[in-house]
Amino acid sequence: METKKDSFCKALFHGDIREDILFPYPAISNDEAESVRMMIDGIDKFRPNVKSGQFDRDGAFPDEFIQQVAELGLMGLAIPESYGGLGLSSTGYVRVTEEISTIDGALAVTLGAHQSIGFKALTLFGSDAQKKKYYPGLASGETIACFALTEPGSGSDAGSIKTRAVLSDDGTHYILNGEKIWITNGSMAKFITVFAKTEEPDGQGGVRDKITAFIVDAPAPGITYGPPEDKMGIRASKTTAIHFENVKIPAENVLGGRGKGFKIAMEVLNNGRLGLAGGSLGGCRRMIKTAIEHANTRKQFGKPLNNFGMIQEKIARMVVDTFAAESMIFMTTGLIDRGDCDYSLESAISKVFTTETLWQVSNETLQILGGMGYMRECGVEQVVRDCRINLIFEGANEVLRLFIALSGLQGPGQELAEVARAIKEPLKGIGLLSNIAAKNIRLNVVGVSMLKTHPLLKREAGVLEDYVGEFALQCQKLLQRHGKSIADKQFACKRIADITIDLFAMSCVLARVSSIIETRGADKCEEEIAMAVSFFTVANRRVRGNFKSIDRNDDDQLKLIAAKACERGHYGWDVV
Ligand SMILES: Cc1cc2nc3c(=O)[nH]c(=O)nc-3n(C[C@H](O)[C@H](O)[C@H](O)COP(=O)(O)OP(=O)(O)OC[C@H]3O[C@@H](n4cnc5c(N)ncnc54)[C@H](O)[C@@H]3O)c2cc1C
Repeated sequence: METKKDSFCKALFHGDIREDILFPYPAISNDEAESVRMMIDGIDKFRPNVKSGQFDRDGAFPDEFIQQVAELGLMGLAIPESYGGLGLSSTGYVRVTEEISTIDGALAVTLGAHQSIGFKALTLFGSDAQKKKYYPGLASGETIACFALTEPGSGSDAGSIKTRAVLSDDGTHYILNGEKIWITNGSMAKFITVFAKTEEPDGQGGVRDKITAFIVDAPAPGITYGPPEDKMGIRASKTTAIHFENVKIPAENVLGGRGKGFKIAMEVLNNGRLGLAGGSLGGCRRMIKTAIEHANTRKQFGKPLNNFGMIQEKIARMVVDTFAAESMIFMTTGLIDRGDCDYSLESAISKVFTTETLWQVSNETLQILGGMGYMRECGVEQVVRDCRINLIFEGANEVLRLFIALSGLQGPGQELAEVARAIKEPLKGIGLLSNIAAKNIRLNVVGVSMLKTHPLLKREAGVLEDYVGEFALQCQKLLQRHGKSIADKQFACKRIADITIDLFAMSCVLARVSSIIETRGADKCEEEIAMAVSFFTVANRRVRGNFKSIDRNDDDQLKLIAAKACERGHYGWDVV
């Protein structure tokens, strides 16, 4: 049975608020905080060299630019110091990534493709010999990395890749053939993490296709590139197709074992998503600053824009949502740094919430700037274009919502399957049945309780307690209604995912604000308490709406409308 104790979000599906995971809100060590601050100062000094608008118009960084970035030490942030990196923890890494994104989205994506995903499989699954060989070049920036998974016929459905690697008869090397598309850093990478199908024993004397991860050294005979893609945003980052035709890969370049590639790709993306969330957070920070500068100085109707309620609401919501996103991200990096937690749902949630927050924040900033926001010279339209991709890559947000709902439901689903078995064999299952009965009595009658939240946030904690109890009961109900076919009920899964996202966000905000109050004293936390109350007010509305629409909704009508429209192939109405 799944161990719910290891994951805060998975425990929510069982009606548990794991306060031992949530409290105290994680903090970075003083030593590391010092190194991170030094990196941030260095990035700040480098800021004037980043001609973001110019690079965007050119569709490329100048030749020497990436080398200058490498000299700042930004290429090996999490590589151990013994290999020439900075050895930052996940928290430190994401904080620095956030800062880079306050300067330029394309630069953040280039660096993220290199280290958040490009060589992450080496970090997580590489052998000592592989690390020794590649880490120094990767840390210095002499070797740029990329992550090559996507193919023309395989995007979200990563298991369907066609690229194939065949072991030579003498077992010394593989021959790789296939095509990868839209690979960030593709044409400049010397270290390519490639995912390819290989034939593996099926355990019954035959073979079956599985995915294996390889390190491919480039350039090499048989590797060719498509032209740089002409993109909507992050235009200075290089995105290209990579073709492999009979490329020879040494047998020792397999990463993490034959046939383990799918798990490796998913694990890398789990990790990488937090870098992307951190990058989006930096974008929010930059947009909020731009919006405030404009609202403070631009006068209309004889007053600065910041006097108007509708502008105040926009600024406040941007700040509150960014605070919630930040609270989730650094809770999750804290879990990674602890090393004993399953953070897969938390990292997917952080990615979905923060990328959607930046999309919203950049759009609202553009609105606050009015016509000026629409002009290229002010840079906001570039951020709107740049950040749009964040909702698509490293797991499209729809697919991540499915992942959040279905991974979370697995725990209670298994429990219910065991209940069904126990009912058939009552004598054997008696212990289990009484445990489940006790759990349901707890959820229905006693309720869930939070004890570690600061008393000033008691009302908010009460809301969360009620919702977590109701959430577990609703999950049980959905599983009883749909059984295994819940996987095909995407309307329901989306609601479950959205509730999970809000419950995690509410939990992290409570933990963080409680910790701030404890450190600073309640009288100095007026703003943080207001942010917590405000976030809960809005999240409360969303969660309640999602609970209500589990039973009362227009799903059938929407399915009918979509089916008819897709059949017709166009909108279908006109007034004349
Ligand atoms: C600028 C850029 C850089 C990139 N960099 C890299 C890189 O470095 N390495 C790499 O390997 N790839 C990279 N990619 C590819 C990227 O990861 C894919 O675009 C992404 O995985 C989505 O795949 P797709 O575009 O084929 O969309 P599809 O998978 O075709 O999806 C299209 C839409 O359908 C939705 N959808 C798909 N399946 C489902 C489902 N089961 N239920 C509900 N909705 C669904 C998706 O959410 C999406 O909205 C990059 C792409 C771009 C545009």
